[in-house]
Amino acid sequence: MKDMVLLGSTGSIGTQALDVAKLHNIKVTALSAGSNAELLIRQAEEFSPKYVCIADESKYRDLKSGLSGKGIELMCGKECLCALAALPCDTVVNAIVGTAGFAPALSAVSAGNKLALANKESLVVGGEIITSIVKEKGTCLFPIDSEHSAIFQCLTGRGNNKPKKLILTASGGPFRGYTSEMLKTVDKAQALKHPNWNMGAKITVDSATMMNKGLELIEAVWLFDVLPEQVEIVVHPQSILHSAVEFEDGSVIGQMGTPDMRIPIQLALTYPNRCPSCAKPLSLFGVTMTFEKPDEKAFPCMGLARSALKKGGNMPCIMNKANEIAVGMFLRDKLSFCEIPEKISWAMENVGFSEKISLDIITETERETEEILK
Ligand code: NDP
Repeated sequence: MKDMVLLGSTGSIGTQALDVAKLHNIKVTALSAGSNAELLIRQAEEFSPKYVCIADESKYRDLKSGLSGKGIELMCGKECLCALAALPCDTVVNAIVGTAGFAPALSAVSAGNKLALANKESLVVGGEIITSIVKEKGTCLFPIDSEHSAIFQCLTGRGNNKPKKLILTASGGPFRGYTSEMLKTVDKAQALKHPNWNMGAKITVDSATMMNKGLELIEAVWLFDVLPEQVEIVVHPQSILHSAVEFEDGSVIGQMGTPDMRIPIQLALTYPNRCPSCAKPLSLFGVTMTFEKPDEKAFPCMGLARSALKKGGNMPCIMNKANEIAVGMFLRDKLSFCEIPEKISWAMENVGFSEKISLDIITETERETEEILK
């Protein structure tokens, strides 16, 4: 791999993608952030990209004062993110958080670029659109999410054998084993303390509510063309087995490794080559692996995701946007932890349903969901 466009470079996945780029001398053609101009400037100084974009237009002035005269083309706004995603390059890494990642994902695959996708929300809201364009353009969509990267690896070399079941592992988050009663008093600081992974705030809260697994269930259905009933969620608190696939003959093939996102990020960039990585190797001595059924009563978000997927159309989009809004409110201390699923469920019942899905319907659904939850 020679070069990449990295969208969301200032986040948890973005900074780790830059670690991988440094280790393997991958050229960085473009970088983007939401609003963190300070870190974006430092990254641009280190990686000398051709283009740098900040989504938040009010931060453009900061970007200009930090980087003008350095021979870098500076841009701002949402449309420019799409323009970067369409640049001729080996891989577009989409590490933007939330539905802001959807339009750039669409732009990347429409331009025929290989897309290394961390932004699971884009498959949740528009999986049908993205996967059909990937097929039409004959391009490649490579998952970065560790579970989906694991499943991808387990399916490699399967020939014509279809998977019987995908086993999607979940750490269970910081509240594993909590009852509904105990969850009534948890706070933001507790929710942001993930036992195994160091991630951005939104996905960390999604892991605490288990909505992350709901989003990943939808992501898996689109990526691997399976039925929702073929995806089993299994709580595995040690996060060593990153997911597995069961085949017709009863064989279960899994992928293991230390919980370090640089492994799946790197594979998405170097595939089919496996190169040395900065991650700590896994030693099986002293490792204990346990598996539990998820508690869907205490953590209703998984069920909400299943019913959104079953209903289809714009329902996953309503659910995803409502989740994004509810998590934002929780992080601003405007909502309690248990009110997150309540808010999502309410939006799913009250926002206008459309059986069809298109870019315009997604935009309108998000607008309506935002309006109704204000
Ligand atoms: P972070 O919050 O750490 O980073 C998000 C990135 O997106 C930042 O660069 C941020 O910029 C940028 N951004 C935020 N809002 C916008 C916007 N409106 N327009 C353009 N850019 C924006 O998130 P993570 O890195 O944790 O997660 C990124 C994606 O990867 C998510 O979809 C998540 O679910 C998925 N993922 C993450 C994993 C992880 O380990 N972190 C694991 C698996 C999947 P700024 O810094 O300026 O706000």
